[in-house]
Amino acid sequence: MPEQFVELSDPYTPGRRWRVDADFLASNWTCVWGAGCIGILDDPAEDLQQGCCSHGAEVLDQDEAMLIAALAASLDPARFQNHATASELGVFLNDGRTHTRVVNDACIFFNRPEFDGGVGCALHLGALDAEEQPTDWKPSICWQAPLKAHHTEEGTLVTLRPWTRDDWGPGGKDMAWICTDPNEPNPAAFVGDEPVVSSLAHELSELLGPELYGSVRAAIDQQTDGSVGRPAS
Ligand code: SF4
Repeated sequence: MPEQFVELSDPYTPGRRWRVDADFLASNWTCVWGAGCIGILDDPAEDLQQGCCSHGAEVLDQDEAMLIAALAASLDPARFQNHATASELGVFLNDGRTHTRVVNDACIFFNRPEFDGGVGCALHLGALDAEEQPTDWKPSICWQAPLKAHHTEEGTLVTLRPWTRDDWGPGGKDMAWICTDPNEPNPAAFVGDEPVVSSLAHELSELLGPELYGSVRAAIDQQTDGSVGRPAS
């Protein structure tokens, strides 16, 4: 296995460094939504297929809020189960537009399994319908999962690592699972056939920028010879 963290300079922001969890990026974690994911409610609820959409999404900033609002308004009602609620009440939980609204215990954008327009994130489905990337439609916190970029206050160091229970706040301790938490590796999500650095190549390139992503990938390949493994417990 690689050293857990590799540190690299940010080619786009002078003075900033990234500390990347190479152990996780070399692992065979994969999102098992609809294929064994038990969700993040207090009790396992695989049949609900909510994945990590049970609590709504935190919106990055007002630019992202404007984008989400515009895309939501463009969604075909046949693909967006909560279209009527969105039209009446809006897609945000609060006037500050910092979180997506929660409807019947899931994000307003979550289509239920029985919905004819397709289960899962309506924004994700809308992006695919438009032949665009879901990364351009969804709140960044959603497409960046399972990764969390933690910025120091001074902004000189960013740690990129998987989500942990603590990241979810007080509610995290009761969640049915944290599929990525290296302190409780759950075999059900470590079943991918390629390393995360490959399976999430597009998302990582969007998050890090292509040049830094290339450097991260080279560093991990060098440490692992391209082999795939689970993080050490
Ligand atoms: S990231 Fe984890 S919790 Fe979220 S849908 Fe995928 S497997 Fe489930």
